[in-house]
Amino acid sequence: MKVLFSSWNDEIIDNRGVDPANWKDAPILKLPAEFDKGNNITAFMGWSGIILLKDIINIVDMCTRFIEKVQYESCGKCYSGRIGTAVMQKLLRKIASGEGEEKDLTQLSALADNISNTSKCSIGQTSPIPILHALKYFRDDFVTAVKNKKPVSNSNRYESKWTAPCYAACPTGMDIPSYIEFIKEWRPLESLKRIREASPMAASLGRACFHPCENNCRRENVERAISICKLKRFAWDYEDLHSISKPVNENKHIKEDKVAVFGAGPAGLSAAYYLAMMGYRVTVFESLPVPGGMVGVGIPQYRVPKEVLQREADFIRDMGAEIKYNTPVGKDITIPKLKEQGYKAFFISTGAHLSKKMGAEGEDAGYDGFVRGIDYLRDCVITKCYEVRGKRIIVVGGGNVAMDCCRTPVRNGAKEVTVVYRRTKKELPADPHEVHESEVEGVKYIFLAAPKRIVAENGKVKGLECLKMELGEPDASGRRKPVEVKGSEFIVPADIIIQAIGQDCDLSILNGVEGVKLTKWQTIVADPDTMQTDVPYIFTGGDVFNGPLTIVDAAGNARRAAESIDQYLSNSPVSLSIDQKLDKVIKKLGAYNKDEKVGKKAGWERVPMPTIEMDRRLGSFDEVETGYTLQQAIEEASRCMRCYQIGMVALEKTV
Ligand SMILES: Cc1cc2nc3c(=O)[nH]c(=O)nc-3n(C[C@H](O)[C@H](O)[C@H](O)COP(=O)(O)OP(=O)(O)OC[C@H]3O[C@@H](n4cnc5c(N)ncnc54)[C@H](O)[C@@H]3O)c2cc1C
Repeated sequence: MKVLFSSWNDEIIDNRGVDPANWKDAPILKLPAEFDKGNNITAFMGWSGIILLKDIINIVDMCTRFIEKVQYESCGKCYSGRIGTAVMQKLLRKIASGEGEEKDLTQLSALADNISNTSKCSIGQTSPIPILHALKYFRDDFVTAVKNKKPVSNSNRYESKWTAPCYAACPTGMDIPSYIEFIKEWRPLESLKRIREASPMAASLGRACFHPCENNCRRENVERAISICKLKRFAWDYEDLHSISKPVNENKHIKEDKVAVFGAGPAGLSAAYYLAMMGYRVTVFESLPVPGGMVGVGIPQYRVPKEVLQREADFIRDMGAEIKYNTPVGKDITIPKLKEQGYKAFFISTGAHLSKKMGAEGEDAGYDGFVRGIDYLRDCVITKCYEVRGKRIIVVGGGNVAMDCCRTPVRNGAKEVTVVYRRTKKELPADPHEVHESEVEGVKYIFLAAPKRIVAENGKVKGLECLKMELGEPDASGRRKPVEVKGSEFIVPADIIIQAIGQDCDLSILNGVEGVKLTKWQTIVADPDTMQTDVPYIFTGGDVFNGPLTIVDAAGNARRAAESIDQYLSNSPVSLSIDQKLDKVIKKLGAYNKDEKVGKKAGWERVPMPTIEMDRRLGSFDEVETGYTLQQAIEEASRCMRCYQIGMVALEKTV
């Protein structure tokens, strides 16, 4: 992008005095141009420097406003952060008001340097950085402010907030450093309270989240990311295992408006929770007899125990959400009929429960021994467990569904389980941890192979004919496209083939509804900020909106949707708050720099998650990971560096 000036990540781009046509490019910067429709961003100041898009900013004023926010947010745990930034604020206010002296600049610079080097948390360590950059690259502006003896222009509009690399990566907007801090201080219940502000599903997320936060953890730059996900589980387990009474909802049913939620998966349960906490009368309609959606009937017991999930759903029910199981919507019960019954708003979160086809000959022939992955996993929970004892199983696919499909028969006594995947191990989309665990449990892999035909005799599966593949040019996903090698057919013998290559959405929920748009992938179209569809009283989220994705994305959508439904029912504009708009800006800019040299000594390794022994794994569906003890959780939480940091935008107009 083109910028007037940037010192972001210590890379200096200085186009001041240069004709804009000849401005040097800043390719790594991703600061959005707009904060809001018609309201442009003119500058950004934060943990890693300064970015100016236009020459309309008074840098002294901007530094003053920035340090005021820093002072407000400083936690008080260390002297330099709390008192040091207060002195910086005093000096900057003095300079900005036209009462500054040359010696103040020297003192400000020395102080900023000192605070950056001695503060305990990242707010203190990083916030002086843009001030130091300003004093270095905009020295003349400070000197002029001192010499002029007049207040500097303060006509700019600013918005600022705290962020953290882990927080910025979490779709639910969870205050991660804070919940970790509570665990470190032996306060697991306060930790859980903080977690529940962003998601009521700490048990499921703490067991099966793909933790984008950990991919943004600065501790990874030192040795290994904090076990953020499993600490969340610890907080939930602590309350659960000690039978501590759960919080009560003071607002239960204080409002008259009725809201219908479709699906008791992570999205539906989360939305129902927030709406119930706001006092709405919420009913969740769920077609299955169990809660959790794909967490309940996809993710197997050994990863998220059903009884844990049930207790999680019961908590949401106790907060005031009615959950009607065995109640599909779209036929006898429809959205128009519910509207007639007085429901004022609807949240569609019906997931993606149809299997995609793999395009192999014979997959529609109804062969005994051929089953689609999500049907297989769901049947294992609800109706029947397939007899796999002593049999050879092939699982086709390389995603997380494939991982659950291969690790399940291992536990049911299969003789041999082989995953067939069309790319190489490097391109496997499944969580690497899951792949590792499957290998530990004895699952074999055939890479660079695609299914061509199901081999059957007398209607029974006998094997899978595959074609060898090689990797060609990258496709739209950025991964190299598998290309078949002509004449390379080979047969892998098998008794059961489980196909696990993707899911589609069943949209019968929309029967009788007009005006809700669909994408070409048959997902529901909605405003990604508000989750509102083109029909104002219908909102959506989770897999039916994203396509098959993750629990945490579904939970994040639901939190947003619940806020939007509240705005809609309160006759307020359905829109993001200023804080949420700032979060979007920061997310786009990037709050984590994987190349940053954090400057800490490596060697404080992550506390390993205790697991059950291998022979117990193979013979049962017992939960594999047993969770941290209090001591282990405290030790792991103590590795957190509390990477809070402050970001501030300058805007053309008042918000
Ligand atoms: C096998 C498998 C393993 C996975 N593993 C992980 C993992 O480890 N980590 C992770 O983050 N994500 C994982 N995912 C993805 C994750 O489970 C989903 O992204 C998440 O559950 C989506 O939540 P949701 O609420 O949108 O939909 P779902 O969880 O699918 O819930 C939708 C609910 O709506 C109900 N429903 C559907 N139609 C109707 C109707 N007409 N009327 C009433 N109810 C209806 C369904 O029965 C279901 O209960 C996995 C998915 C699968 C399939």
